[in-house]
Amino acid sequence: QPLVKKTKPIPVALYGGRHAVTMLPGGGIGPELMVYVKEIFKYAGAPVDFEVVEIDPKSDESNDLEYAITSIKRNGVAIKGNIETKSESTGVQSRNVAIRNELDLFVNVLHCHSYPGVPARQKGIDIIIIRQNTEGEYAMLEHESVEGVVESMKIVTKSNSERVARFAFEYAKRNNRKKVTTIHKANIMKLSDGLFLETSQKVAKDYPEIEHNDMIIDNCCMQLVSRPHQFDVMIMTNLYGTIVSNVVCGLVGGAGLLSGKNYGDHYAIFEPGTRNTGTAIAGKNIANPIAMISASIDMLDHLGHKQHSQVISDAVRKVICEDKLHTPDLGGSASSTEIVQRIIDYILQTDTRAW
Ligand code: ATP
Repeated sequence: QPLVKKTKPIPVALYGGRHAVTMLPGGGIGPELMVYVKEIFKYAGAPVDFEVVEIDPKSDESNDLEYAITSIKRNGVAIKGNIETKSESTGVQSRNVAIRNELDLFVNVLHCHSYPGVPARQKGIDIIIIRQNTEGEYAMLEHESVEGVVESMKIVTKSNSERVARFAFEYAKRNNRKKVTTIHKANIMKLSDGLFLETSQKVAKDYPEIEHNDMIIDNCCMQLVSRPHQFDVMIMTNLYGTIVSNVVCGLVGGAGLLSGKNYGDHYAIFEPGTRNTGTAIAGKNIANPIAMISASIDMLDHLGHKQHSQVISDAVRKVICEDKLHTPDLGGSASSTEIVQRIIDYILQTDTRAW
């Protein structure tokens, strides 16, 4: 049985030349960021219609979740804010994880890159983090076997490890990347991380032109802080992925800048890279809108609307890197709406007559 499924791609919904996309605003700053995305798309003339699905984080009902999944299956593509899962509500499982698992979005791609002109701990960072997105510690298989003893299962499968490794090497090949580093803790978790490492080593043999090495997760965190430029493409299991993504986002300017992409064989979801809810800053007009706008640019690229994505990303670069208009998280004093307004001003200056 082949490990990498070669299934026929399901075409994304396209009605009269316009794409339908599911929008899951989520909680915290999600809804306000989605308003900005809609405004920007309006002025850029992006041919996308959003089907908004709200999910009540407090409800135990699964109707909202089922509707969201049905909508994404119909449209093929979604843009998403983080749906809050309060840690005290132990009965409610994370909707974010449930959506990714149900749609088999087996890989998460985070392009961690510095923005010139943005104050950051490290400059010139350009790292691709490729993370297994549906199993590992996020298998949601936890139970209390006897009172006071909880067991939590970390699932690593050869098939998913191979899919992620192959995705990473193919990504490296297509994007002219030179090195893939597998991050693991196989010295302690010999079977689970051992399988992940062994599988990536086997896949690496099919790509002799790309250097492959491996690094233990704890050393990786230290190396990222002290010598991050040694990394090119990194692959890792789910929990290490979320931690490492946050470390690298912290190096380049925090939670509000970068976007992440979730892919499976059939569906794709675009969202801010660090998946924060940002409840504490919601409704204050201070959230950095760039991570969600970048997610919307990734989405337009994925749908093939390259001109629209280019116009918006050029406008973002001018605002962030040239005008240096920044929200408080980057040390600036601009409001979220000032940033969005400036982006729209640049979009309106673009000559779109040749399109
Ligand atoms: P909660 O959502 O439970 O209140 P929080 O807001 O403390 O948690 P996270 O949502 O995990 O934390 O976000 C981590 C940090 O990143 C917080 O300090 C948050 O304010 C900040 N943050 C997240 N997203 C953004 C953003 N888009 N712009 C500015 N700061 C952000």
